[in-house]
Amino acid sequence: MRRKLVVGNWKMHGSKTAIADLLSKLPHTGLSNTEVAVCPPFVYLQWVERQLAGSAIALGAQNVASALQGAYTGEVSATMLRDLECRFVIVGHSERRALFGESNTDVADKTKIALEQDLIPIVCVGESLAEREADATLEVIGAQLDAVLAVLDRAQVSRIVVAYEPVWAIGTGRTATPEQAQAVHAFIRDRLASIDPAAAAKTRILYGGSVKADNAATLFAQNDIDGGLVGGASLNAEEFTAICNAAG
Ligand code: PEP
Repeated sequence: MRRKLVVGNWKMHGSKTAIADLLSKLPHTGLSNTEVAVCPPFVYLQWVERQLAGSAIALGAQNVASALQGAYTGEVSATMLRDLECRFVIVGHSERRALFGESNTDVADKTKIALEQDLIPIVCVGESLAEREADATLEVIGAQLDAVLAVLDRAQVSRIVVAYEPVWAIGTGRTATPEQAQAVHAFIRDRLASIDPAAAAKTRILYGGSVKADNAATLFAQNDIDGGLVGGASLNAEEFTAICNAAG
């Protein structure tokens, strides 16, 4: 039985005041079947970590460098994220791939370094609208996933979290149907199973792309959907709490 996971990706939003207000309204206890995490912008990580003392909500980062230290101005390493008690780190978000040129190889390197520093990487994969319309969805996701799997050993497969985020559904209000999402999630789990079936059965695969309070329950009820990576709705305490509750 996989424990559900709901992760809020705050992207480049927030201020101390807005975050304090949001945190004061989130479910800090009482979700024993669901793990919840929030991923603030880097500059707020340490402050949010202090606010979360005693809370069941875990901390995550939105990105990580592919090197551990050195002359990489503006980058933040996996050891630094561990230092700040981060449990999760998002790698390969479609915005990082599209706006900052991250390749499948970069995503694989970041996944590996995160695991080596005991962080749980949330590896994002997803197709664009043009790729879906060209019937290339599984091919694109297969390639994104294979690049990561190529650098992992069998034991590491169950330690990653995969997030299926169709690019056309992110921030657009357009959600994949539960059937569309389930089909891709099943494909992802099969691909993981080709490395290690027992590990693949344990790997959590999240759906992301306009998850809201009113569509979360049907998405999370699918066999291979183990929770959500939530952008816009994670900035609204009421919506995010309802999404967490929908996960159980
Ligand atoms: C995301 O940022 O990963 C995301 C899925 O955003 P949204 O929920 O706003 O579509």
